[in-house]
Amino acid sequence: MKALRDRILKDGKCFPDGILKVDKFINHQMDPNLMKQVCVEFIRRYASTEINKIITIEASGIAPAIMMGFLLDLPVVFAKKKKPSTMGDMLSTTVFSFTKQREYHVVISKEYLGEGDKVLFVDDFLAYGNAAKGIIDLCRQAGAELVGMGFIIEKAFQHGRDVIEAAGVRCESLAIIESLDNCEIKLREE
Ligand code: 5GP
Repeated sequence: MKALRDRILKDGKCFPDGILKVDKFINHQMDPNLMKQVCVEFIRRYASTEINKIITIEASGIAPAIMMGFLLDLPVVFAKKKKPSTMGDMLSTTVFSFTKQREYHVVISKEYLGEGDKVLFVDDFLAYGNAAKGIIDLCRQAGAELVGMGFIIEKAFQHGRDVIEAAGVRCESLAIIESLDNCEIKLREE
């Protein structure tokens, strides 16, 4: 997606250990117009797929997820990193965050993910696929069908796609980074 690729090259910043900072337009300050273009592209790619719900993990997945839900007129559910005391029956799994170097639990109420759901997961980044693995597990526990996953940015050198494809789930990402070596952003040609 050209607009996204151009923006990553213009405003993305490399950090040590393979981290790309995009907080000028995706996950701190946000560009709603670019986010809309991103979601229109996800919708085009999944046009022939039946979806009844968008799912994500807080916090940075919420912006693309709500935009997707708005454009498709579908409900949006985000997995929570803290269990609210008011939540009844829930599904729970563990996710390792490599940006924070720790494990955390994520929960979703059974009320909002269950049998018969056909869900599309969206998130800002695909790195090692740990968040994706957690979502695959939550959908399996719920008996929901995970029809696909969509990432704004995939870091191919961290191989998260292998986890998703090994689970038989379709994976789409809109900008693929081949390398961040020597603080240089190398994007895959389209
Ligand atoms: P994974 O679970 O695939 O290993 O990592 C994905 C999650 O970690 C995303 O939800 C994202 O929030 C965060 N993340 C992974 N890599 C990066 C990165 O390079 N930059 C930023 N800003 N977040 C990242």
